[in-house]
Amino acid sequence: MKRTETQALIESVMSGLAERSDFLGIEDDEKRRFVCGSAKEILKTTDKVIKSYIRVSTEKDGIVRIPAYRVQHNNISGFYKGGIRFSEFVNEAEVENLAILMTLKNALHRLPYGGAKGGVHVDPRKFTEKELNLISKKYVQRFSRDIGPNHDIPAPDLGTNEKIVDWMVGEFKTIHPGEQYLGSFTGKSVENGGARGRREATGRGTFLSYSWMLDEWAGLHANGNDINRHKQWETLKSLREQTENGEPIRVAVQGFGNVGGVAALEAYTYSKYQHKVVAVSDRFTTLYHSEGLDIEKLIEYTKKGRDLPSNSEHLKQAGVEAEIKPVTDVLIVDTDVLILAAIEDQIHQDNMEEVKAGVLVEGANAPISLEADDYFERNGTIVIPDILANAGGVIVSYLEWKQSRVTELFTEEEIIADMSKQMIETLKNVYDSYFSSVDQTMRNTCFTLSLERLTGLLYRHGKLF
Ligand code: NAD
Repeated sequence: MKRTETQALIESVMSGLAERSDFLGIEDDEKRRFVCGSAKEILKTTDKVIKSYIRVSTEKDGIVRIPAYRVQHNNISGFYKGGIRFSEFVNEAEVENLAILMTLKNALHRLPYGGAKGGVHVDPRKFTEKELNLISKKYVQRFSRDIGPNHDIPAPDLGTNEKIVDWMVGEFKTIHPGEQYLGSFTGKSVENGGARGRREATGRGTFLSYSWMLDEWAGLHANGNDINRHKQWETLKSLREQTENGEPIRVAVQGFGNVGGVAALEAYTYSKYQHKVVAVSDRFTTLYHSEGLDIEKLIEYTKKGRDLPSNSEHLKQAGVEAEIKPVTDVLIVDTDVLILAAIEDQIHQDNMEEVKAGVLVEGANAPISLEADDYFERNGTIVIPDILANAGGVIVSYLEWKQSRVTELFTEEEIIADMSKQMIETLKNVYDSYFSSVDQTMRNTCFTLSLERLTGLLYRHGKLF
Protein backbone atom coordinates (compact mmCIF):
# COMPACT_ATOMS: atom_id res chain seq x y z
CA MET A 1 0.00 0.00 0.00
CA LYS A 2 1.55 3.27 -1.12
CA ARG A 3 1.33 6.71 0.47
CA THR A 4 -1.37 7.83 -1.97
CA GLU A 5 -3.48 4.77 -1.05
CA THR A 6 -3.07 5.45 2.68
CA GLN A 7 -4.10 9.06 2.15
CA ALA A 8 -7.07 8.01 0.00
CA LEU A 9 -8.26 5.66 2.74
CA ILE A 10 -7.93 8.40 5.37
CA GLU A 11 -10.00 10.63 3.10
CA SER A 12 -12.78 8.09 2.60
CA VAL A 13 -12.96 7.06 6.28
CA MET A 14 -13.08 10.71 7.38
CA SER A 15 -15.91 11.37 4.93
CA GLY A 16 -17.81 8.46 6.51
CA LEU A 17 -17.23 9.80 10.04
CA ALA A 18 -18.52 13.22 8.98
CA GLU A 19 -21.90 11.66 8.16
CA ARG A 20 -22.23 9.79 11.45
CA SER A 21 -24.67 11.75 13.58
CA ASP A 22 -23.29 10.28 16.84
CA PHE A 23 -19.70 11.26 16.06
CA LEU A 24 -18.05 13.53 18.65
CA GLY A 25 -21.48 14.34 20.06
CA ILE A 26 -21.94 17.04 17.40
CA GLU A 27 -25.56 16.88 16.27
CA ASP A 28 -25.37 19.78 13.83
CA ASP A 29 -24.53 18.16 10.46
CA GLU A 30 -22.82 21.23 9.03
CA LYS A 31 -20.60 21.69 12.06
CA ARG A 32 -19.66 18.01 12.16
CA ARG A 33 -18.73 18.03 8.47
CA PHE A 34 -16.63 21.14 9.01
CA VAL A 35 -14.81 19.60 11.99
CA CYS A 36 -14.16 16.34 10.11
CA GLY A 37 -13.02 18.23 7.02
CA SER A 38 -10.47 20.12 9.13
CA ALA A 39 -9.27 16.90 10.80
CA LYS A 40 -8.92 15.26 7.39
CA GLU A 41 -6.70 18.07 6.10
CA ILE A 42 -4.52 17.94 9.22
CA LEU A 43 -4.09 14.16 9.12
CA LYS A 44 -3.42 14.07 5.40
CA THR A 45 -0.62 16.58 5.88
CA THR A 46 2.74 15.59 7.32
CA ASP A 47 4.14 17.91 10.01
CA LYS A 48 7.78 17.77 8.93
CA VAL A 49 9.91 16.02 6.31
CA ILE A 50 13.64 16.35 6.93
CA LYS A 51 16.10 15.16 4.35
CA SER A 52 19.84 15.18 4.74
CA TYR A 53 22.91 13.57 3.19
CA ILE A 54 25.29 11.46 5.17
CA ARG A 55 28.83 11.42 3.81
CA VAL A 56 31.13 8.60 4.84
CA SER A 57 34.51 7.47 3.68
CA THR A 58 34.32 3.81 2.61
CA GLU A 59 37.11 1.32 2.04
CA LYS A 60 35.86 0.39 -1.43
CA ASP A 61 34.42 3.57 -2.98
CA GLY A 62 36.00 6.43 -1.02
CA ILE A 63 33.50 9.14 0.01
CA VAL A 64 29.87 8.16 -0.59
CA ARG A 65 26.84 10.41 -0.24
CA ILE A 66 23.79 8.71 1.27
CA PRO A 67 20.28 10.24 1.42
CA ALA A 68 18.74 10.04 4.90
CA TYR A 69 15.29 11.02 6.17
CA ARG A 70 13.32 11.66 9.30
CA VAL A 71 9.61 12.25 8.75
CA GLN A 72 7.34 13.42 11.57
CA HIS A 73 3.74 12.97 10.56
CA ASN A 74 1.63 13.98 13.54
CA ASN A 75 1.99 14.27 17.33
CA ILE A 76 -1.52 14.97 18.58
CA SER A 77 -1.42 11.64 20.53
CA GLY A 78 2.05 12.22 22.04
CA PHE A 79 5.74 12.34 21.15
CA TYR A 80 6.65 11.31 17.60
CA LYS A 81 7.66 7.66 17.45
CA GLY A 82 8.86 5.36 14.68
CA GLY A 83 11.73 3.15 13.56
CA ILE A 84 14.71 3.89 11.33
CA ARG A 85 15.23 1.57 8.37
CA PHE A 86 18.40 0.95 6.40
CA SER A 87 17.46 -0.23 2.92
CA GLU A 88 18.46 0.44 -0.67
CA PHE A 89 14.75 0.99 -1.44
CA VAL A 90 14.25 3.86 1.02
CA ASN A 91 12.75 6.99 -0.53
CA GLU A 92 10.85 9.99 0.79
CA ALA A 93 7.35 8.81 -0.20
CA GLU A 94 7.89 5.44 1.44
CA VAL A 95 9.22 6.94 4.69
CA GLU A 96 6.29 9.36 4.78
CA ASN A 97 3.80 6.54 4.25
CA LEU A 98 5.38 4.58 7.10
CA ALA A 99 5.22 7.67 9.36
CA ILE A 100 1.48 8.10 8.65
CA LEU A 101 0.90 4.42 9.43
CA MET A 102 2.74 4.89 12.76
CA THR A 103 0.35 7.71 13.73
CA LEU A 104 -2.60 5.46 12.94
CA LYS A 105 -1.08 2.41 14.66
CA ASN A 106 -0.29 4.27 17.88
CA ALA A 107 -3.77 5.77 17.96
CA LEU A 108 -5.41 2.40 17.31
CA HIS A 109 -3.53 0.82 20.22
CA ARG A 110 -4.08 3.93 22.38
CA LEU A 111 -0.37 4.50 22.92
CA PRO A 112 0.69 8.01 24.01
CA TYR A 113 2.70 8.52 20.82
CA GLY A 114 2.35 10.20 17.47
CA GLY A 115 3.86 8.91 14.23
CA ALA A 116 7.31 9.28 12.65
CA LYS A 117 9.76 7.22 10.61
CA GLY A 118 13.38 7.37 9.56
CA GLY A 119 15.20 5.93 6.60
CA VAL A 120 18.71 5.70 5.21
CA HIS A 121 19.17 4.77 1.57
CA VAL A 122 21.78 2.02 2.00
CA ASP A 123 22.01 -1.71 1.64
CA PRO A 124 23.58 -2.44 5.05
CA ARG A 125 25.05 -5.69 3.76
CA LYS A 126 27.38 -3.77 1.46
CA PHE A 127 29.14 -1.86 4.25
CA THR A 128 31.69 -2.93 6.83
CA GLU A 129 30.78 -2.78 10.51
CA LYS A 130 32.96 0.30 10.95
CA GLU A 131 31.20 2.05 8.04
CA LEU A 132 27.78 1.16 9.45
CA ASN A 133 28.87 2.56 12.79
CA LEU A 134 29.84 5.84 11.07
CA ILE A 135 26.56 5.98 9.12
CA SER A 136 24.57 5.41 12.34
CA LYS A 137 26.45 8.13 14.23
CA LYS A 138 26.14 10.59 11.34
CA TYR A 139 22.39 9.93 11.19
CA VAL A 140 22.13 11.09 14.81
CA GLN A 141 24.36 14.11 14.14
CA ARG A 142 22.20 15.17 11.18
CA PHE A 143 18.90 14.81 13.05
CA SER A 144 20.04 15.54 16.60
CA ARG A 145 17.84 18.64 16.90
CA ASP A 146 14.79 16.70 15.77
CA ILE A 147 14.96 13.63 18.00
CA GLY A 148 14.96 13.19 21.77
CA PRO A 149 13.13 11.48 24.63
CA ASN A 150 10.44 14.17 24.88
CA HIS A 151 10.05 14.88 21.20
CA ASP A 152 10.75 12.06 18.73
CA ILE A 153 11.88 8.60 19.77
CA PRO A 154 13.28 6.30 17.05
CA ALA A 155 13.64 2.49 17.18
CA PRO A 156 14.99 -0.27 14.90
CA ASP A 157 13.18 -1.35 11.74
CA LEU A 158 14.07 -3.17 8.53
CA GLY A 159 17.86 -3.50 8.20
CA THR A 160 18.61 -2.07 11.67
CA ASN A 161 18.93 -3.76 15.06
CA GLU A 162 19.82 -3.23 18.71
CA LYS A 163 23.53 -2.87 17.92
CA ILE A 164 22.84 0.07 15.59
CA VAL A 165 20.43 1.59 18.12
CA ASP A 166 23.09 1.29 20.86
CA TRP A 167 25.56 3.19 18.64
CA MET A 168 22.92 5.85 18.01
CA VAL A 169 22.21 6.22 21.74
CA GLY A 170 25.95 6.59 22.36
CA GLU A 171 26.12 9.41 19.80
CA PHE A 172 23.00 11.10 21.21
CA LYS A 173 24.62 11.05 24.66
CA THR A 174 27.81 12.62 23.30
CA ILE A 175 25.90 15.39 21.52
CA HIS A 176 23.53 16.10 24.44
CA PRO A 177 25.57 15.72 27.65
CA GLY A 178 23.40 15.62 30.75
CA GLU A 179 20.20 14.78 28.89
CA GLN A 180 18.03 11.79 29.67
CA TYR A 181 19.59 9.76 26.87
CA LEU A 182 18.15 6.30 27.65
CA GLY A 183 14.67 7.43 26.65
CA SER A 184 15.91 8.86 23.34
CA PHE A 185 15.70 5.51 21.50
CA THR A 186 13.90 2.22 22.07
CA GLY A 187 15.00 -1.19 20.86
CA LYS A 188 18.33 -0.89 22.72
CA SER A 189 20.17 -3.98 23.94
CA VAL A 190 19.09 -5.12 27.42
CA GLU A 191 22.59 -4.29 28.73
CA ASN A 192 22.06 -0.72 27.51
CA GLY A 193 18.62 -0.24 29.10
CA GLY A 194 16.53 -2.06 26.48
CA ALA A 195 13.42 -4.04 27.35
CA ARG A 196 13.69 -7.78 27.65
CA GLY A 197 11.69 -9.34 24.84
CA ARG A 198 11.69 -6.21 22.62
CA ARG A 199 13.42 -8.01 19.75
CA GLU A 200 10.79 -10.74 19.69
CA ALA A 201 7.81 -8.49 20.42
CA THR A 202 6.73 -7.64 16.86
CA GLY A 203 6.91 -11.24 15.64
CA ARG A 204 5.13 -12.52 18.73
CA GLY A 205 2.43 -9.87 18.48
CA THR A 206 1.99 -10.59 14.78
CA PHE A 207 1.33 -14.26 15.44
CA LEU A 208 -0.85 -13.37 18.44
CA SER A 209 -3.11 -11.20 16.25
CA TYR A 210 -3.97 -14.34 14.28
CA SER A 211 -3.82 -17.03 16.99
CA TRP A 212 -5.99 -15.03 19.38
CA MET A 213 -8.62 -14.61 16.67
CA LEU A 214 -8.56 -18.32 15.85
CA ASP A 215 -8.62 -19.48 19.40
CA GLU A 216 -10.11 -17.02 21.91
CA TRP A 217 -12.19 -14.71 19.77
CA ALA A 218 -13.72 -17.41 17.57
CA GLY A 219 -14.30 -19.51 20.71
CA LEU A 220 -16.23 -16.67 22.35
CA HIS A 221 -18.43 -16.32 19.24
CA ALA A 222 -18.80 -20.04 18.54
CA ASN A 223 -22.60 -19.76 18.16
CA GLY A 224 -22.12 -17.32 15.26
CA ASN A 225 -24.66 -14.79 16.62
CA ASP A 226 -23.85 -11.16 15.71
CA ILE A 227 -21.57 -12.24 12.83
CA ASN A 228 -22.28 -10.41 9.60
CA ARG A 229 -19.02 -11.18 7.84
CA HIS A 230 -20.14 -14.69 6.91
CA LYS A 231 -17.50 -15.69 4.37
CA GLN A 232 -14.62 -14.70 6.68
CA TRP A 233 -16.36 -16.45 9.57
CA GLU A 234 -16.53 -19.65 7.51
CA THR A 235 -12.79 -19.35 6.76
CA LEU A 236 -12.07 -19.14 10.49
CA LYS A 237 -14.43 -21.97 11.39
CA SER A 238 -12.98 -24.31 8.77
CA LEU A 239 -9.45 -23.72 10.13
CA ARG A 240 -10.62 -24.68 13.61
CA GLU A 241 -12.36 -27.78 12.26
CA GLN A 242 -9.26 -28.73 10.28
CA THR A 243 -7.09 -28.94 13.42
CA GLU A 244 -9.88 -30.53 15.46
CA ASN A 245 -9.81 -33.28 12.80
CA GLY A 246 -6.08 -33.71 13.39
CA GLU A 247 -4.85 -31.86 10.32
CA PRO A 248 -2.33 -29.11 11.18
CA ILE A 249 -2.89 -25.59 9.87
CA ARG A 250 -0.28 -24.74 7.21
CA VAL A 251 1.64 -21.46 7.58
CA ALA A 252 3.94 -19.67 5.13
CA VAL A 253 6.11 -16.72 6.17
CA GLN A 254 7.67 -14.15 3.85
CA GLY A 255 10.78 -12.60 5.44
CA PHE A 256 12.94 -14.42 7.97
CA GLY A 257 14.37 -11.49 9.94
CA ASN A 258 13.37 -9.99 13.24
CA VAL A 259 9.62 -10.20 12.59
CA GLY A 260 9.31 -13.18 10.23
CA GLY A 261 11.78 -15.47 12.05
CA VAL A 262 10.02 -14.96 15.37
CA ALA A 263 6.52 -15.28 13.87
CA ALA A 264 7.56 -18.55 12.18
CA LEU A 265 8.92 -19.85 15.49
CA GLU A 266 5.68 -18.88 17.26
CA ALA A 267 3.69 -20.87 14.69
CA TYR A 268 6.12 -23.80 14.95
CA THR A 269 5.86 -23.96 18.74
CA TYR A 270 2.18 -23.02 19.17
CA SER A 271 0.61 -25.75 21.23
CA LYS A 272 -3.09 -24.92 21.39
CA TYR A 273 -3.92 -25.66 17.76
CA GLN A 274 -1.48 -27.65 15.68
CA HIS A 275 0.38 -25.73 12.97
CA LYS A 276 3.17 -26.58 10.55
CA VAL A 277 5.30 -24.01 8.75
CA VAL A 278 5.38 -25.22 5.15
CA ALA A 279 7.29 -22.28 3.61
CA VAL A 280 9.62 -19.47 4.65
CA SER A 281 11.54 -17.00 2.52
CA ASP A 282 14.08 -14.25 2.67
CA ARG A 283 15.21 -11.87 -0.09
CA PHE A 284 16.90 -14.70 -2.05
CA THR A 285 15.07 -17.99 -1.48
CA THR A 286 11.82 -19.71 -0.63
CA LEU A 287 12.13 -22.97 1.29
CA TYR A 288 9.18 -25.34 1.07
CA HIS A 289 8.32 -28.61 2.74
CA SER A 290 4.76 -29.92 2.70
CA GLU A 291 5.32 -31.82 5.97
CA GLY A 292 6.63 -28.70 7.73
CA LEU A 293 10.08 -27.09 8.01
CA ASP A 294 12.26 -27.35 11.10
CA ILE A 295 12.13 -23.70 12.14
CA GLU A 296 14.36 -24.10 15.19
CA LYS A 297 17.18 -25.38 12.97
CA LEU A 298 16.66 -22.58 10.46
CA ILE A 299 16.80 -19.99 13.24
CA GLU A 300 20.01 -21.56 14.50
CA TYR A 301 21.45 -21.49 10.95
CA THR A 302 20.57 -17.84 10.29
CA LYS A 303 21.66 -16.67 13.77
CA LYS A 304 25.22 -16.14 12.60
CA GLY A 305 24.06 -13.44 10.17
CA ARG A 306 23.55 -15.94 7.35
CA ASP A 307 20.71 -15.93 4.81
CA LEU A 308 18.41 -18.94 4.58
CA PRO A 309 20.03 -22.04 3.03
CA SER A 310 19.92 -21.59 -0.74
CA ASN A 311 21.49 -24.82 -2.05
CA SER A 312 21.68 -28.47 -1.05
CA GLU A 313 25.05 -28.01 0.66
CA HIS A 314 23.58 -25.25 2.89
CA LEU A 315 20.53 -27.37 3.64
CA LYS A 316 22.81 -30.20 4.72
CA GLN A 317 24.77 -27.84 6.98
CA ALA A 318 21.51 -26.63 8.51
CA GLY A 319 20.21 -30.18 8.89
CA VAL A 320 16.94 -29.14 7.23
CA GLU A 321 14.83 -30.99 4.70
CA ALA A 322 13.33 -28.61 2.13
CA GLU A 323 12.72 -27.85 -1.51
CA ILE A 324 14.35 -24.66 -2.82
CA LYS A 325 11.91 -22.52 -4.79
CA PRO A 326 11.97 -19.07 -6.42
CA VAL A 327 11.79 -16.23 -3.94
CA THR A 328 8.22 -15.07 -4.73
CA ASP A 329 6.75 -18.58 -4.47
CA VAL A 330 6.21 -18.06 -0.76
CA LEU A 331 3.26 -15.83 -1.67
CA ILE A 332 1.50 -18.42 -3.78
CA VAL A 333 2.29 -21.80 -2.20
CA ASP A 334 -0.54 -23.98 -0.92
CA THR A 335 -1.04 -22.74 2.62
CA ASP A 336 -3.83 -21.77 5.01
CA VAL A 337 -2.11 -18.76 6.59
CA LEU A 338 0.40 -16.37 5.01
CA ILE A 339 2.39 -14.05 7.25
CA LEU A 340 3.96 -11.16 5.34
CA ALA A 341 7.06 -10.01 7.24
CA ALA A 342 9.42 -8.52 4.65
CA ILE A 343 8.71 -5.31 2.74
CA GLU A 344 5.97 -3.20 1.11
CA ASP A 345 3.89 -3.84 -1.99
CA GLN A 346 4.13 -7.62 -2.15
CA ILE A 347 0.54 -8.48 -3.07
CA HIS A 348 -1.23 -6.40 -5.67
CA GLN A 349 -3.44 -6.56 -8.72
CA ASP A 350 -0.92 -8.69 -10.66
CA ASN A 351 -0.60 -11.57 -8.20
CA MET A 352 -3.59 -11.36 -5.81
CA GLU A 353 -5.54 -14.06 -7.62
CA GLU A 354 -2.70 -16.55 -7.19
CA VAL A 355 -2.67 -16.26 -3.39
CA LYS A 356 -4.16 -19.39 -1.81
CA ALA A 357 -4.08 -18.58 1.90
CA GLY A 358 -7.39 -17.95 3.67
CA VAL A 359 -5.75 -15.71 6.29
CA LEU A 360 -3.16 -13.03 5.53
CA VAL A 361 -1.31 -11.36 8.40
CA GLU A 362 0.66 -8.15 7.81
CA GLY A 363 3.74 -8.34 10.04
CA ALA A 364 5.44 -5.99 7.57
CA ASN A 365 4.14 -2.51 6.90
CA ALA A 366 2.00 -1.98 3.81
CA PRO A 367 2.61 -5.30 1.97
CA ILE A 368 -0.89 -5.47 0.42
CA SER A 369 -2.36 -2.92 -1.99
CA LEU A 370 -5.83 -1.44 -1.41
CA GLU A 371 -7.09 -3.12 -4.55
CA ALA A 372 -5.92 -6.53 -3.35
CA ASP A 373 -7.43 -5.82 0.07
CA ASP A 374 -10.84 -5.25 -1.54
CA TYR A 375 -10.45 -8.38 -3.63
CA PHE A 376 -9.67 -10.51 -0.55
CA GLU A 377 -12.57 -8.98 1.32
CA ARG A 378 -14.96 -10.02 -1.44
CA ASN A 379 -13.73 -13.61 -1.62
CA GLY A 380 -13.78 -14.27 2.14
CA THR A 381 -10.04 -14.07 2.87
CA ILE A 382 -9.22 -12.58 6.27
CA VAL A 383 -6.62 -9.81 6.11
CA ILE A 384 -5.23 -8.71 9.49
CA PRO A 385 -3.74 -5.30 8.69
CA ASP A 386 -0.31 -3.98 9.66
CA ILE A 387 -1.42 -1.28 12.08
CA LEU A 388 -3.24 -3.95 14.08
CA ALA A 389 -0.92 -6.94 13.71
CA ASN A 390 2.60 -5.55 13.99
CA ALA A 391 2.18 -3.27 17.02
CA GLY A 392 3.90 -5.61 19.50
CA GLY A 393 7.21 -3.81 18.95
CA VAL A 394 5.92 -0.32 19.58
CA ILE A 395 3.91 -1.47 22.61
CA VAL A 396 7.07 -2.93 24.14
CA SER A 397 8.95 0.20 23.04
CA TYR A 398 6.52 2.17 25.17
CA LEU A 399 7.32 -0.08 28.14
CA GLU A 400 11.05 0.38 27.44
CA TRP A 401 10.64 4.15 27.34
CA LYS A 402 8.66 4.00 30.60
CA GLN A 403 11.34 1.86 32.25
CA SER A 404 14.03 4.36 31.18
CA ARG A 405 12.16 7.02 33.17
CA VAL A 406 12.09 5.02 36.39
CA THR A 407 15.49 3.37 35.78
CA GLU A 408 14.11 -0.07 36.48
CA LEU A 409 14.23 -3.22 34.34
CA PHE A 410 10.95 -5.08 33.89
CA THR A 411 11.22 -8.87 33.57
CA GLU A 412 10.56 -10.49 30.20
CA GLU A 413 7.41 -12.12 31.63
CA GLU A 414 6.09 -8.71 32.78
CA ILE A 415 6.85 -7.19 29.38
CA ILE A 416 5.22 -9.97 27.35
CA ALA A 417 2.20 -10.11 29.66
CA ASP A 418 1.72 -6.32 29.39
CA MET A 419 2.18 -6.39 25.61
CA SER A 420 -0.27 -9.26 25.13
CA LYS A 421 -2.87 -7.65 27.42
CA GLN A 422 -2.68 -4.36 25.58
CA MET A 423 -2.78 -5.99 22.16
CA ILE A 424 -5.70 -8.24 23.06
CA GLU A 425 -7.75 -5.24 24.14
CA THR A 426 -7.33 -3.71 20.68
CA LEU A 427 -7.75 -7.04 18.85
CA LYS A 428 -11.08 -7.60 20.62
CA ASN A 429 -12.27 -4.11 19.74
CA VAL A 430 -11.36 -4.50 16.08
CA TYR A 431 -12.64 -8.08 15.62
CA ASP A 432 -15.97 -7.30 17.37
CA SER A 433 -16.45 -4.30 15.16
CA TYR A 434 -15.27 -5.91 11.91
CA PHE A 435 -17.17 -9.21 12.13
CA SER A 436 -20.42 -7.47 13.08
CA SER A 437 -20.17 -4.89 10.27
CA VAL A 438 -21.45 -5.56 6.79
CA ASP A 439 -19.40 -3.68 4.28
CA GLN A 440 -15.86 -2.76 5.23
CA THR A 441 -12.42 -4.32 5.16
CA MET A 442 -10.63 -4.91 8.46
CA ARG A 443 -8.20 -2.18 7.41
CA ASN A 444 -11.16 0.14 7.14
CA THR A 445 -12.27 -0.85 10.65
CA CYS A 446 -8.78 -0.12 12.00
CA PHE A 447 -8.52 3.22 10.21
CA THR A 448 -11.99 4.18 11.51
CA LEU A 449 -11.08 3.42 15.15
CA SER A 450 -7.77 5.30 14.80
CA LEU A 451 -9.24 8.30 13.06
CA GLU A 452 -12.06 8.54 15.60
CA ARG A 453 -9.46 8.80 18.34
CA LEU A 454 -7.21 11.24 16.48
CA THR A 455 -10.12 13.49 15.47
CA GLY A 456 -11.43 13.38 19.05
CA LEU A 457 -8.06 14.54 20.35
CA LEU A 458 -7.72 17.28 17.72
CA TYR A 459 -11.24 18.47 18.58
CA ARG A 460 -10.62 18.49 22.32
CA HIS A 461 -7.29 20.28 21.85
CA GLY A 462 -9.18 23.02 20.02
CA LYS A 463 -7.49 22.48 16.64
CA LEU A 464 -10.51 22.14 14.41
CA PHE A 465 -12.05 25.63 14.24
P1 NAD B 1 14.77 -7.51 9.08
O1 NAD B 1 15.74 -6.68 8.35
O2 NAD B 1 15.15 -8.11 10.38
O3 NAD B 1 14.28 -8.73 8.14
C1 NAD B 1 13.73 -8.55 6.87
C2 NAD B 1 13.59 -9.89 6.20
O4 NAD B 1 12.91 -9.70 4.95
C3 NAD B 1 14.93 -10.56 5.84
O5 NAD B 1 14.81 -11.96 6.00
C4 NAD B 1 15.13 -10.21 4.36
O6 NAD B 1 15.96 -11.13 3.68
C5 NAD B 1 13.68 -10.29 3.90
N1 NAD B 1 13.44 -9.59 2.65
C6 NAD B 1 13.89 -8.38 2.26
N2 NAD B 1 13.47 -8.12 1.02
C7 NAD B 1 12.72 -9.18 0.63
C8 NAD B 1 12.03 -9.50 -0.54
N3 NAD B 1 12.01 -8.67 -1.57
N4 NAD B 1 11.37 -10.70 -0.60
C9 NAD B 1 11.39 -11.54 0.44
N5 NAD B 1 12.04 -11.28 1.59
C10 NAD B 1 12.69 -10.12 1.67
O7 NAD B 1 13.47 -6.60 9.22
P2 NAD B 1 12.30 -6.72 10.28
O8 NAD B 1 12.63 -5.89 11.46
O9 NAD B 1 11.94 -8.15 10.47
O10 NAD B 1 11.11 -5.97 9.52
C11 NAD B 1 10.31 -6.63 8.56
C12 NAD B 1 9.08 -5.80 8.30
O11 NAD B 1 8.35 -5.63 9.51
C13 NAD B 1 9.30 -4.39 7.76
O12 NAD B 1 8.25 -4.05 6.89
C14 NAD B 1 9.21 -3.53 9.00
O13 NAD B 1 8.84 -2.20 8.72
C15 NAD B 1 8.10 -4.25 9.75
N6 NAD B 1 8.08 -3.97 11.18
C16 NAD B 1 9.18 -4.24 11.94
C17 NAD B 1 9.11 -3.97 13.29
C18 NAD B 1 10.26 -4.30 14.21
O14 NAD B 1 10.08 -4.18 15.42
N7 NAD B 1 11.38 -4.74 13.71
C19 NAD B 1 7.96 -3.40 13.85
C20 NAD B 1 6.85 -3.17 13.04
C21 NAD B 1 6.93 -3.47 11.70
